[in-house]
Amino acid sequence: MAIKESTASAVNAAPRQFDAIIIGAGFSGLYQLHKLRDDLGLNAVVLEKADGIGGTWYWNRYPGARCDSESYYYCYSFNKEIEQEWSWSERYPEHPEIRKYLNFVADKLDLKRNVSLNTEVTSATFDDAENIWTVQTRSGEIFSAPFLITAVGCLSTANIPKMKGLETFEGQWYHTGLWPHEGVNFAGKRVGQIGTGSTGIQAAPVIAEEAKHLTVFQRTANYSIPARNGPVTTEDVRHTRENYDEIWRLARAGTNGHPFTISAQSALSVSDAERQDIYEKAWERGGLRFRASFSDVLQNADANLTASNFLRSKIKEVVKDPAIAEMLTPYDHGFATKRPPIDSGYFEAFNRDNVLLVDIKAEPIVEITPRGIRTAKREYELDIIVFATGFDALTGPLVNLNICGSNGAKLKDEWSAGPRTYLGLQSPKFPNLFTITGPGSPSVLCNMPIAIEQHVNWITDCIRAMRANGQKRIEADVDSTEKWVAHVNEAADATLLPMASSSWYLGANVPGKPRVFMPYAGGFARYAAICDDVAQSGYRGFSLS
Ligand code: NAP
Repeated sequence: MAIKESTASAVNAAPRQFDAIIIGAGFSGLYQLHKLRDDLGLNAVVLEKADGIGGTWYWNRYPGARCDSESYYYCYSFNKEIEQEWSWSERYPEHPEIRKYLNFVADKLDLKRNVSLNTEVTSATFDDAENIWTVQTRSGEIFSAPFLITAVGCLSTANIPKMKGLETFEGQWYHTGLWPHEGVNFAGKRVGQIGTGSTGIQAAPVIAEEAKHLTVFQRTANYSIPARNGPVTTEDVRHTRENYDEIWRLARAGTNGHPFTISAQSALSVSDAERQDIYEKAWERGGLRFRASFSDVLQNADANLTASNFLRSKIKEVVKDPAIAEMLTPYDHGFATKRPPIDSGYFEAFNRDNVLLVDIKAEPIVEITPRGIRTAKREYELDIIVFATGFDALTGPLVNLNICGSNGAKLKDEWSAGPRTYLGLQSPKFPNLFTITGPGSPSVLCNMPIAIEQHVNWITDCIRAMRANGQKRIEADVDSTEKWVAHVNEAADATLLPMASSSWYLGANVPGKPRVFMPYAGGFARYAAICDDVAQSGYRGFSLS
């Protein structure tokens, strides 16, 4: 059974001392616990706000929520037994199955006994004299340890727009990332959905099936590739199990941690007919692999245009009403310069009689009223509003922890102009604090479990080396951090990614957030090689003492 947090009696109690504190019990926190506890023999604890494990997948239970990476590689690669015992039921696992998987892993490795559930971290403070982090929780309980590792996910702080009048709404409203566990009954209801990112694109067709009426409020039109979800066959399972070594080798050798290679040919090097044929096949196969059709879809604007135009033409093929099809067609950004959604019947949903599309650039939302949403043109009467409005990505979950480092430095202030990390793993003034898949690392541009394992392994090796050398403190140097931040920008600028001005990769979705390209776009394999080289050099760019 998991550790239960004590409540009021814990206030002002002496800190509970550990060798390492990990914040978050999702994919990253669970694996980090396993490595520190079972490989290094440390007394480690995971502090988790929720009353169950799962991290992102604990919270994201909205209709249609499933993973966009394929199940056979959206999982851990570190344990052969788990690989051989677990089997997925669908090509893209739905959220309950991912939680089931994480519980299976946690039970198999007996991890839950070191996870403290219902334990929300409210602050973390570093003591320079002792080289100790002290972590305070909502209930007043205090934990301390030399090492603090954040495993809080990249997309875990809900972005709920401050819309005038929301508090007056007489119906129910929900954010997709904080979905009620008991579910929401849409039967007979008029639903308004704000947001058409990956989440909104997954949710809309499911809500449309269940609700009396769905109004989708679209700010920016989006591209989407059909997921082509389906059951995993016994033959698929056998094939995957027999080929796991090769699957992981391919995943680690690539740009995005997916076990497929990006085509070596330019989209501009083939005839129009050949290009069309390649895109058609990729469209039929479905999924994120579409963007691997050519080598330069994300590097060359003309190559990108061929993919964008293909997908625009598909919207017009699928959506029957040409005016609606036109409203759904993105022109402001190239395909995959924002995270490309994949869908199961998204564009088809707009052919239904009970679905209405509202372009809120043409008729902006003015306010939420007691009865619904009022735009510049009219009021839409609603019983339920669904905010599929995304997250304060990458930095939000970290800054919200109220982290106070060396000499009282606050992470919030240090990152006020954008995140500053060395390798996405550490920031100057925050010694012994490691971040799993933080800004400045491939993180969200990657199949997450692959990115997570690489970080956890690196952090574990670093702590192992420090203990072997009798070192108690590690801190990223300012100089190496400045150079890394410059390199992160350079890597992004070598792609078309910064061109999507409304992208959450740039923080553009959160009003007031600095516009900085946050993930490392130089590719997973290249990034992992840099991290390995830094470790082998004796942790170049860090100060150890
Ligand atoms: P998102 O991509 O940021 O999309 C949010 C949507 O809400 C956008 O359409 C945005 O419009 C709109 N929006 C935001 N604020 C608004 C406002 N004030 N008024 C009107 N519209 C507003 O968020 P998401 O769809 O939750 O996806 C975030 C990321 O989570 C994805 O990119 C993906 O990495 C991950 N994700 C993964 C999966 C999966 O693997 N299964 C599923 C879902 C999400 P603009 O575009 O104009 O900003």
